[in-house]
Amino acid sequence: MNEHQIGIVGGGLAGLTAAIALSRYGYDIAVFESNTYPHHKVCGEYLSNEILPYLNSLGVDLLAAGGKSIDRFEISSNQGKIAACRLPLGGVGISRYALDNLLYETAKSQKVTFYFEKVQDIRFDGNGFKVESRQTRVSAHMVIGAYGKRSGLDKALHRSFIQKKTHWLAIKGHYSFPEFPNDLVALHNFKGGYGGLSKTEKGHINFCYLAQYDVFKEFKDVSAFNEKIVSQNPHLKHFLVNAEPVFEHPLSIGQISFEPKEPIVNHVLMCGDTAGLIHPLCGNGMAMAIHAGKLVSEFVHAYFRGTYISRRDMENAYQRSWNTHFKRRLFYGRYFQKLLLKDSFLNWGISTFGRSEGLLQNIIAKTHGKTVSP
Ligand SMILES: Cc1cc2nc3c(=O)[nH]c(=O)nc-3n(C[C@H](O)[C@H](O)[C@H](O)COP(=O)(O)OP(=O)(O)OC[C@H]3O[C@@H](n4cnc5c(N)ncnc54)[C@H](O)[C@@H]3O)c2cc1C
Repeated sequence: MNEHQIGIVGGGLAGLTAAIALSRYGYDIAVFESNTYPHHKVCGEYLSNEILPYLNSLGVDLLAAGGKSIDRFEISSNQGKIAACRLPLGGVGISRYALDNLLYETAKSQKVTFYFEKVQDIRFDGNGFKVESRQTRVSAHMVIGAYGKRSGLDKALHRSFIQKKTHWLAIKGHYSFPEFPNDLVALHNFKGGYGGLSKTEKGHINFCYLAQYDVFKEFKDVSAFNEKIVSQNPHLKHFLVNAEPVFEHPLSIGQISFEPKEPIVNHVLMCGDTAGLIHPLCGNGMAMAIHAGKLVSEFVHAYFRGTYISRRDMENAYQRSWNTHFKRRLFYGRYFQKLLLKDSFLNWGISTFGRSEGLLQNIIAKTHGKTVSP
């Protein structure tokens, strides 16, 4: 059995951030990741600037990696009515292929150990953990769960959200579409879903959408769904008719759950989507995952330094802090998603308030945090 001080399950944004931050404090870290790097992921690929100074402090410079600086937002209803505003904080357009790999290279350069294996079980024995994949067993004093939206591990840990039916799937692809501006992120509604468009570091346009399974299942495949449903929105029709796909096939994921989750399960400190997934329309899940990686690393470090009288004491403090930073944003995300999917309401809202930049900016601010300081 291999021994490490801290085991991190999942090497996405939350897990890699925690790994980098904790290795800078000098801990011996093991990350389990079921994929290799780099790889594409289903994601809108718009990262809020709230996290940029922190990433820079970790030595990760997204603009130097070609990320596109974005400060304009537009939203359209299925009927094509459009509203636009300057983004209060702005963001960066960068592919997950590039972003996750940048963080991975940074973690590797800091001597983080990687096991490219899928974790099947995490057990707590009262003192520490055993983390098990098919090939490897690792013992660790502390374990961070950063394995994303959904995993077989959620069943092994008996989490309640995994029992509930989900109604969402997501499709993503990169396209060549030169007329799309560098500085824009666009959110377009369609029946039973919505999709985002923004540019990546390579100049390709990422088109990623979320759709209700009940609407999607009537169509045989993504092309038919794009043609019959997504293209009802004239802005998306213009995009789909004129853009050239870069991927041979779009990527897809199903079973996406927005149910509330617990930030601590069986003493495992959860962070990122493993602790709660915000609705993608907020364009904020990545910044929250990175922020959560920072937060969990601070609590783990404080625990090892003896700031807390017990593990339980630290866990309670982490849970309170997680709630303070993220719970309200998840609530607003759920609320705005309900409104966005009511196309008649969205159409009316855009016609009535569409010219009020301030109102749109206020709505955006509700799901975003303040700039995270290093
Ligand atoms: C359709 C869609 C669009 C989105 N668009 C945006 C957007 O534009 N902007 C934004 O900020 N957010 C967006 N998000 C949210 C964002 O993608 C997530 O919040 C973010 O990826 C969370 O990062 P994470 O590290 O928690 O999880 P992930 O990035 O999913 O990382 C989890 C990692 O764990 C690994 N893993 C899973 N199970 C195991 C296991 N058993 N053993 C080992 N490894 C495992 C996975 O391979 C993965 O690499 C979107 C989400 C969706 C669904």
